Amino acid sequence: MAGVAWHYVLKFIITGDAAVGKSSLLIRLTDQRFLANPDPTLGVEFGSKLITIPEENKVVKLQCWDTAGTESFRSITRSYYRGAAGCLLVYDVTSRQSFVNVRSWLQDVREHADPHLTCILVGNKIDLCTDDPNAPAPKRKREVTTEEGELWAQEEGLLFLEASAKSGENVEAAFERATRDILEKVRRGV
Ligand code: GDP
Repeated sequence: MAGVAWHYVLKFIITGDAAVGKSSLLIRLTDQRFLANPDPTLGVEFGSKLITIPEENKVVKLQCWDTAGTESFRSITRSYYRGAAGCLLVYDVTSRQSFVNVRSWLQDVREHADPHLTCILVGNKIDLCTDDPNAPAPKRKREVTTEEGELWAQEEGLLFLEASAKSGENVEAAFERATRDILEKVRRGV
C-alpha cells in the first residue's frame, strides 16, 4: 500500500434524534476525544478519517457529515444525503424515545439516499448502562435491550452495534463494519 494515500473516499452521514451523541461519535472517531458538555448549537459538521481494511488491502478515507443541530427542525435536505455510501443511524440506549424515533430517521434515509447505501444502527451511550439498581449515579438504566436493537436491525436489513462515544468502545468498529460492507458491494459490482 506504499505511496497510496487512499484507495477510496466514502461519504458517511450520521442521523438520529438530537442529543443521542452524533457529534460525539464524530469527534471520537476523528479526534479521539469526548466532550461532556458540547455546545448544542454548534454541532460538528464534518470530519474525515483514514481507516485501513487489511483483508481488502485498502485504505479508505471517510468523509463524515453530521446534522449539526438541524435535526430538531427536520430541515435536513436532500444534499445532505446525496452521494452518501454509508449511514450511522444512532439512538441512545438509555432513551426509549430515541429508539422509537429512529424508525422515522430510517424512513428519511430511504426516501432521500441512494438505495444501495449501507446503514448501521448504532445504540450509543452503553457506558451509562447498568442492570444494578443500586449502582451510584450517574449510571442510568438501559431502556433498549441489545436484543431489541439487534432484532429490529435484522428486520430492516441494517448492520448493528452498540457503542460509547464516551469510552470509545466500538466507535471505530461501527465505521469499519459499514466500510467493509460497502467495499464488499463494490467488489460484487453492486
Ligand atoms: P447530538 O445532538 O446527537 O450530536 O449529541 P451530542 O454529541 O451533542 O451529545 C449529547 C450529549 O450526550 C452530550 O452531553 C454528550 O456529552 C453526551 N454523550 C454523547 N455520547 C455519549 C456517550 O457515549 N456516553 C455518555 N455518557 N454521554 C454521551
